[in-house]
Amino acid sequence: MEALLDRLRRGDRLVGDGAWGTQLMQRGLPEGQPPEWMALERPEVIEEIARLYVEAGADLVTTDTFGGTSFRLALHGLEAEKERINRQAVEAVRRATGSAEDRALVSASVGPSGRLLEPYGDTSPEAVHEAFAEQVATLAEAGADLICIETMSDLTEATQAVRAAKERAPGLPVMATMTFEPNPRGYYTVMGVSVEQAVSGLADAGADLVGSNCGIGMEHMVAIARELTRTARVPVAVQPNAGLPEIQGDTVVYKETPEAMAARVPELLDLGVALVGGCCGTTPDHVRAVRRAVDAWCARA
Ligand SMILES: [Zn+2]
Repeated sequence: MEALLDRLRRGDRLVGDGAWGTQLMQRGLPEGQPPEWMALERPEVIEEIARLYVEAGADLVTTDTFGGTSFRLALHGLEAEKERINRQAVEAVRRATGSAEDRALVSASVGPSGRLLEPYGDTSPEAVHEAFAEQVATLAEAGADLICIETMSDLTEATQAVRAAKERAPGLPVMATMTFEPNPRGYYTVMGVSVEQAVSGLADAGADLVGSNCGIGMEHMVAIARELTRTARVPVAVQPNAGLPEIQGDTVVYKETPEAMAARVPELLDLGVALVGGCCGTTPDHVRAVRRAVDAWCARA
C-alpha cells in the first residue's frame, strides 16, 4: 500500500502504461475473443507486452482484466475460467515488472460490468458489487499492487466497485477513473455524471486516486484535468486516448502522435496531476514520450 501512496505524498509524478487491445491483436488474439482470452491461453504474450511498457518507462503496468467480471466473461463463455484469467493476468505482469524495490507496480484493471443498473436496466447495485468483489479478491490474492477501476460512466456502478475493492483488498490503494465527453454544459459521462460529482462520489466511496481515462484525446483531457484538480482532495490520474477514434475500413484508428501527447504533459503537471498514462490507441512510444516529458518537468520543478 505504502509504495504508491508514499510516492504520491512526496509529490512524485507517475507514468502509467498505454493501450493493450492493439498490442494483443498484433500478437494473435483470435477474432471474437476478448482481451482476457490471452491471459488464459497465452500468458507469455501478456508478459511480453508488459515488458515493453516497463522498458518504455511506465511506473504502473495494467493487467488485461478490464472485462474480468463474471458478467463480461459470461458473454464469451469464459465465466468458468474467471479465477484463472484474473490470476494469470496479474502473475504475467508481475513477472515482467520484476522484484526490485523500485519496480513498476501491477495495476489490476477492473472495467464496467456491461450491465445497465436499475432503474435504467435490470441489474441491482448488489449484483455488480458481488461481481466486482469476486474479481478484486482474485486480483489481490494473485499479487496486484493496486486496483484500477476505469472507463466508468455510471457513478453508482463505479462506487460499488470502489467499495468492493476496499472490502476485499483492504491493503491495496484504489484508483477510480471515469470517461467524460464534452457537451454544451461541460464534461459529463454518457450517464450524465459531472466531473465534480464523480470526484466527490469516488473519493467518498474510498478511492485513493480519482480521475479520467479514455475519451477523445489530450486537448479535452487537459480541460477535464482542470476541473478534476480544482475539486479533488485526493491525487488525480489521467489516461487519455491517442485522440479521437476514427473509423478506417473495419478498424478504429487513433492518430495523436507520441510527440503531440507529450507536448501537453507539462500543462497537466502544472495543474497538479499526479499520474499520466494512456488509454486506447497509445503505444510504448507514447509512454516513452510521456516519460521524457514528465522527467523534464520534474528536473525543472
Ligand atoms: Zn480508452
